[in-house]
Amino acid sequence: MFKKILIANRGEIACRVAATARRMGIQTVAVYSDADAGAKHVQACDEAVHVGGSAPKDSYLRWERILQAAKDTGAQAVHPGYGFLSENEDFAKACAAAGLVFIGPPASAILAMGLKAESKRLMESAGVPLVPGYHGADQDPALLQHEADRIGYPALIKASAGGGGKGMRVVEKSEDFAAALASCKREAINSFGSDAVLIEKYVQRPRHIEIQVFGDTQGNCVYLFERDCSVQRRHQKVLEEAPAPGMTEALRAQMGAAAVAAAKAVNYVGAGTVEFIVEQTAYDQPESMKFFFMEMNTRLQVEHPVTEAITGLDLVEWQLRVASGEALPLRQDQLRIQGHAIEARICAENPDNNFLPATGTLQVYRKPQATSFERGTVRVDDGVREGDTISPFYDSMVAKLIVHGDTREQALARLDTALAQTHIVGLNTNVQFLRHVVRSEAFATAKLDTALIQREAPVLFKQEAVGLPAAVAAVVAHTLHAEKALQGADPFSRRDGWQSHGLAQRRFEFVWQDQPRSARLNYLHDGALSLSLEGDDAASGVLTFAAHGEGLWVQWGNAPRCFSQLDWQGETAHLFTPQGATRITVLDPLAHAGEAAQEGGRLTAPMPGKVVSFAVKAGDKVKAGQPLAVMEAMKMEHTISAPKDGVVAELLYAPGDQVADGAELLKLAA
Ligand code: ADP
Ligand code: ADP
Ligand code: MG
Repeated sequence: MFKKILIANRGEIACRVAATARRMGIQTVAVYSDADAGAKHVQACDEAVHVGGSAPKDSYLRWERILQAAKDTGAQAVHPGYGFLSENEDFAKACAAAGLVFIGPPASAILAMGLKAESKRLMESAGVPLVPGYHGADQDPALLQHEADRIGYPALIKASAGGGGKGMRVVEKSEDFAAALASCKREAINSFGSDAVLIEKYVQRPRHIEIQVFGDTQGNCVYLFERDCSVQRRHQKVLEEAPAPGMTEALRAQMGAAAVAAAKAVNYVGAGTVEFIVEQTAYDQPESMKFFFMEMNTRLQVEHPVTEAITGLDLVEWQLRVASGEALPLRQDQLRIQGHAIEARICAENPDNNFLPATGTLQVYRKPQATSFERGTVRVDDGVREGDTISPFYDSMVAKLIVHGDTREQALARLDTALAQTHIVGLNTNVQFLRHVVRSEAFATAKLDTALIQREAPVLFKQEAVGLPAAVAAVVAHTLHAEKALQGADPFSRRDGWQSHGLAQRRFEFVWQDQPRSARLNYLHDGALSLSLEGDDAASGVLTFAAHGEGLWVQWGNAPRCFSQLDWQGETAHLFTPQGATRITVLDPLAHAGEAAQEGGRLTAPMPGKVVSFAVKAGDKVKAGQPLAVMEAMKMEHTISAPKDGVVAELLYAPGDQVADGAELLKLAA
């Protein structure tokens, strides 16, 4: 076995590889870019080498540098992870030339499977079923059009060198073919440096079912069953599970045999995945399922943990054993499926805005309690910590949640709970969206196909899991609770301006889904609290709350008791409840006992809005608490007052200017 390996990757997969190496007593070397200098994967390894700038082409793709780092540190082998150099046959060859073991298949197998068209020709001769289509070398547009017409519509044009869901166009009718071909070729040449395409019949009600294979240098090859990755957006995987719902023993054996035949056709060694597209005439008719080869990924796959969960194996350990020359640890007849596993990819993106990738800092990053797979059920694979940044340089994946259960139903329930316990503040993520998918009737009953997200859009997008009354009750309760903790006294004693009709009264101003809202809190004679939401007669009643662990149980009027945790981001409260998460903005900075209340003032805009006027000019001496400016937001005026004594150095806006949330309005010197 190796004594030291270099991990030529970053993020969660680098951490994942390092964990197994550590368990096996193998030393690890990390490589990192400028942006990743303090990254989790660097800390996860025993030593680390800086290999260049933040853009992948300046660091993680610079293989001469990476090979030099391996030599300098005395590493014996290189693990490429996925993405980056993992499917680069030149890199695999260069490793060998440098006397290093490439932890992956032989360069010849990467090459043979690297281009979709060539690999399909190879699979054809190995007797693996192919999607009806054209994958010839002749790329004459007239011929391609003719072939698409012959195959019939809808047809799919694919970049032969494509990957990661890019370089694909579905064509609905013959007249659209020429335009789609031109646009596909443009994307292909830009992304993959080659504009060769192939054409496939667009399979109806398609399911993506892939088979994990493993080969060794002694000529053994086994399959570790299937993964269903049908839930996709933009042809990219979102949720993956194993085994595939509805899979029969007979079909599994056939697909397994086809995958092994595919691997053997290229003398495959190590971990690989053969991806099939499966046609079904109806969701609940497994006997109607027909499978066709799509492509082979000659690397470890993002979703490999679901296979680990149902087999109880460590696939990275298998990779290391095979790469060091050992035989596969188990034969086909020793492999078993146990229970059901599901993985959810948590990505920094905005599902409600066409899954636009998001960037930002993980101001809050709270994860579900992970339990080990022998005893428990939840695994979190990630490459980030609270405070880390999701930068535009790399993939938008933040973490993977993997759950295991005796049945699919149990795994689903565990996934929903694990997602509820995943709290991220600071950037948009798909966590709530994933919960909607997991809870949807279609996913729960396994009506799977690659159009599930599109089909179920009405129940998946722009969903409100926590309503306004629940959000208001929670944020008021959390505010009162925090004030009590901060002051160690009755929160009402220091407030002024809310004493009326002999009853203590206090107003809260909110912004909820871009609308101004307000609530009134009354301090009743018996010490109880009564809360009412203005403009909603039904939302009124006694408010009680009790601390529990990191959160509060809140009860308001007749509404069900609700548990919530809260994190402030400026004036915005991020509420996390078992039902879902939401955010609500509290306008008065003094209304919550956060940083603002302690500072007693601010120089920044609490909300996006308009500057109405300045009460001071440059050079003015001001005292803490003195009004500096007036802003208008959500049809209300807000006074910005000095956080401390000082001299106004500069006004950064003029009256009438539109300002963003958090914009600095003026500068104060000591
Ligand atoms: P999977 O391992 O399930 O196939 P993805 O398709 O999302 O997962 O690919 C894994 C990673 O590899 C992603 O970061 C993706 O961007 C990257 N990737 C996949 N194929 C290619 C390719 N041909 N060229 C560049 N990057 C790729
Ligand atoms: P990539 O290299 O980008 O992963 P694939 O060939 O694996 O490309 O296809 C990606 C996804 O596109 C599949 O998972 C599937 O959802 C869809 N797809 C691919 N081929 C077909 C087809 N012939 N019919 C229907 N859907 C397809
Ligand atoms: Mg694929």
